[in-house]
Amino acid sequence: MHSVKHRLLASSDGTAHQLISHHFGGEGHGKKIYIQAGLHADEIPGMLVALTVADKLQQLEQQGRLRCEVVLVNSANPIGLSQYVLGYAIGRFELASGRNFNRGFALLAPQIAEAVEGKLGANADANRAIIHEAWRDLLLAQPPRQAFDDLQRTLMLLSLDADIILDLHCSREAAVHLYTGEAIWPEVEPLARYLGARASLLAFDSGAQSFDEAHSLTWWQLRQHFGERFPIPHGSAAVTVEHRGQRDVSDELAQQDATAIIDYLTYCGAIDAPVTPLPPLTCAATPLGGSEQFYAPCAGILLHGVNPGAHVTVGQQMFVIVDTTDGTRTAIHSRTEGFFYMRRDVRYVRQGDPLGRVSGHEVIRSGNLLSA
Ligand SMILES: [Zn+2]
Repeated sequence: MHSVKHRLLASSDGTAHQLISHHFGGEGHGKKIYIQAGLHADEIPGMLVALTVADKLQQLEQQGRLRCEVVLVNSANPIGLSQYVLGYAIGRFELASGRNFNRGFALLAPQIAEAVEGKLGANADANRAIIHEAWRDLLLAQPPRQAFDDLQRTLMLLSLDADIILDLHCSREAAVHLYTGEAIWPEVEPLARYLGARASLLAFDSGAQSFDEAHSLTWWQLRQHFGERFPIPHGSAAVTVEHRGQRDVSDELAQQDATAIIDYLTYCGAIDAPVTPLPPLTCAATPLGGSEQFYAPCAGILLHGVNPGAHVTVGQQMFVIVDTTDGTRTAIHSRTEGFFYMRRDVRYVRQGDPLGRVSGHEVIRSGNLLSA
């Protein structure tokens, strides 16, 4: 294992952040695996999982059992990690601009398509390498203006040629769930099994330009663009994993999830070890547009009626909001059958605030499918 420091653009005189990537196995040796955590810098569970995975990788490397190259960034957002307001960590949004660190990644499929026109052939692997090169050149040709852009670009440069890309996050209060591209679900499904995911939410394009979508959507769009003319592979299996809620930080949970990730990498042939038999799929994948999003119809004290991860039926009471002036109680019921995979961690809400989500099989939403 060796580590590389990536100095980011300075935001102001005398300050600069650096990313540190850890590299296991030999470059160009088998598959490339990319794992990052903490892009939302106030989501600590994934960071502990990534460190636990790193420990396991180091042992595997010493035993000569890595059949792959792994790039691991266990603290992917030093900018966010330094942001505090009145004692509270603010790691999801950049304070200066309000931008969400996991939104607005550059989607470069049209530019890549233009750059590789005339270079592609009948070999899908060769086409993949040509696309990697064009993609890298395009990123390098766009100097970042600010540290935020530099962070996103550096993470893309580290990961764009990986076969498996895991972006480790967490939600507010949640069961383990994941987001991935609809086209690559068959490749991701074993990971959902090993993790015991309570929801696997699929979309071609959520409208968010998140990190995993900057990978999966780019390949999907290139496949659409070149259609029958040239074979374009899926490129990578890119996944956002939500490791429960923000306070679910413990060595026991991190060991459990890190073992699931190592099992998945072993299943994919990246580690020389016996394959752990695939557990049953806890929950079928559902469209991200099928998730019911609950909103507060009025302000008041929020009482939760259902625990994260529970199966929910149509008509089930999910929340009660208690008016603080006269004690009036307003109940909110599910219109969807599915799994209650995440909820807000607040206990007082204003009218219109989001409350939580239940997965569902029928698409009921369109447009921007993720929160800001
Ligand atoms: Zn996140």
